[in-house]
Amino acid sequence: MNQIKKQSLNKLCINFYEQTKDYFILDACNQKERKYIQNNLKRIITAKPKDFSRIIEDVKSKGLRHDVLRKVFVGDVKGYPGGGYKKFSAKGTKSFNAYDLAEKLDVNVCPYCNISYTYTVKSSNNKSTRPQFDHFICKKKKPIFGMSFYNLIPSCSICNASIKGQDIFEIKTHIHPYIDNFDEIKNFNIDKTLLSLVNKKNDFNIIFEDRENITVEQREKANNHIKSFALEALYNGHKDEVLELVEVSRAYNEDSFDNLVNTFKGSTQIFKDTNDVKRLLLGHHVESKDINKRPLNKLVKDISKELGLI
Ligand SMILES: [Zn+2]
Repeated sequence: MNQIKKQSLNKLCINFYEQTKDYFILDACNQKERKYIQNNLKRIITAKPKDFSRIIEDVKSKGLRHDVLRKVFVGDVKGYPGGGYKKFSAKGTKSFNAYDLAEKLDVNVCPYCNISYTYTVKSSNNKSTRPQFDHFICKKKKPIFGMSFYNLIPSCSICNASIKGQDIFEIKTHIHPYIDNFDEIKNFNIDKTLLSLVNKKNDFNIIFEDRENITVEQREKANNHIKSFALEALYNGHKDEVLELVEVSRAYNEDSFDNLVNTFKGSTQIFKDTNDVKRLLLGHHVESKDINKRPLNKLVKDISKELGLI
């Protein structure tokens, strides 16, 4: 739902490869898997989403065995030393691990739902938390991507462990948070007139609407995303946010925003501009580029726009 935008992403990706390139145990490989992995390890780990399909074709055309690839890249096979993702995600791994990547990515709100925080905290008394890493392309079906940087999506446990389930994601059918921008495809709205909600009634539904000038593929990807993460159901648990925004829109208008900026002008300047006032009043950021900064930010931004607040 919120695109992960970082200027240093490619650098992080290369760094990830450098830090983890020795995590792959090739003992179970036959000659053809061993040769392919040795020649292509960097390409596999740093593959951009658009290049996944070529690697899938390689696996098929060269007849590389899934059970072997699983041992090497996922590492969750009994009786086999756990390398690959298992080593990377183990808390006990002292060298570069999932906490280190999460810290570097610094994604603080789940990009799949924009509902939950995904902070990384490493405390000295060993109580830590980090986002989970969802394998966008399922690691059971395509184990070769078990440790591919762009296949590891930092996300909340509800999206990753509870809701996504067995849904099969592909680059051409689902929103990939590193390359697609859901915010440019769908808007939140409700199925009633917003100002009819002044009685604080809950008899409305939060819905998603298509934005203008989107392609058929974008619409399909976004619809699949909404379905896979049960976003309509989850967001309808947040109707109180919408009702509060309606109240704000009744109490404030552009003049009152200007007044607040002017009142605190000069040395005590609290607000830079009206956007600052709105951010404080709405408790959220009001620009598209900032929706990944707080949970529910897209909902608040879209509904505020509908209400003429921003
Ligand atoms: Zn989530």
